[in-house]
Amino acid sequence: NKQIVLKNYVNGFPKETDMILNDSSTINLNLPQGSTDVVLVKNLYLSCDPYIRILMHETEDASFGTFTPGSPFAGYGVAKVVDSSHPKFKKGDLVWGETEWEEYSIIKSPMTLFKIEHTDVPLSYYTGILGMPGMTAYFGFYEICAPKKGEYVFVSAAAGAVGQLVGQFAKLSGCYVVGSAGTKEKVELLKNKYGFNEAFNYKEEHDLNATLKRYFPNGIDIYFENVGGKMLEAVLPNMRTNGRISACGMISQYNLEQGEGVRNLSHIVVKSLRMQGFIVTNYFHMYPKYMEMIMPLIKQGKICYIEDVVEGLESAPAALIGLFSGKNVGKQVVVVARE
Ligand code: NDP
Repeated sequence: NKQIVLKNYVNGFPKETDMILNDSSTINLNLPQGSTDVVLVKNLYLSCDPYIRILMHETEDASFGTFTPGSPFAGYGVAKVVDSSHPKFKKGDLVWGETEWEEYSIIKSPMTLFKIEHTDVPLSYYTGILGMPGMTAYFGFYEICAPKKGEYVFVSAAAGAVGQLVGQFAKLSGCYVVGSAGTKEKVELLKNKYGFNEAFNYKEEHDLNATLKRYFPNGIDIYFENVGGKMLEAVLPNMRTNGRISACGMISQYNLEQGEGVRNLSHIVVKSLRMQGFIVTNYFHMYPKYMEMIMPLIKQGKICYIEDVVEGLESAPAALIGLFSGKNVGKQVVVVARE
């Protein structure tokens, strides 16, 4: 049973050598005797997500948890049930949810495992648009930002798994949307494929405050925050009164020992801004409602979704690290097995 295992706790920017491909563990393709509520799965697709970096760091803060060196990575994926003593799952079922970075996993008392009902879309979509990142875009945009037609929306890390969906949800809500991303190719995708009104490469801008003034001469109503740090600092003075900020993630901070200080926070007071963070897993009960909305959009071709797919469990460490230099174009997926 090949596994990706954490070698040691990570400080700073993660490296491929922080992870080991371990091929020594054996797996018994039977459930532990007398087990109840246990599912044995064959992993098909794994999802590379920025939050995984946070779990590679030693911390005493139990709110988010941490991996244990020598143990396989845990994360979201799509899998096939090989055996089950859980009443909700049976052999042959396709599922998405929390699993581990290995070929086969035993999942005990699965809290976050969903049976896949629709198989007329690519199964890998359940690592993204039909899975955790899709729910993140949905909850973080519609519930936290309460968008109204004609509002001005800014999305950072806009060409990624979550950002590409938020931008399109904003367009579907009748908003004016601008996105930022780190390469020319991504900027082109934002404007020509995802239908953002405008997009810019933040790496080429020396004064982000001035850049945002250029794209939003009348200010920003909604900021979907994926990046944090300097970008947040530049956004705050550009927010309009009663603006909303969905604090979804702050990827620019995940590799820093101490987070950067952010200036301009007083704009939150003066402009009556609302900035709210969230952890999407607390809202998974809304998944059926999200599926009702998103499936028709996919089937009618009203939403564009791009994945960046690499083959083989051994490709997972490089793919994960690539998230922090913007190597991924779209949702980063790792194929472990296709069936
Ligand atoms: P993406 O697919 O967007 O991949 C990450 C992207 O972030 C990279 O491609 C890169 O794009 C950009 N990036 C990396 N480092 C930096 C940096 N230092 N400064 C600016 N941009 C950077 O990831 P996801 O869509 O999966 O996640 C987006 C955000 O949403 C993350 O912050 C993540 O933690 C958060 N999230 C939060 C959840 C929640 O429950 N609150 C759930 C899921 C995700 P570029 O080329 O543009 O630099």
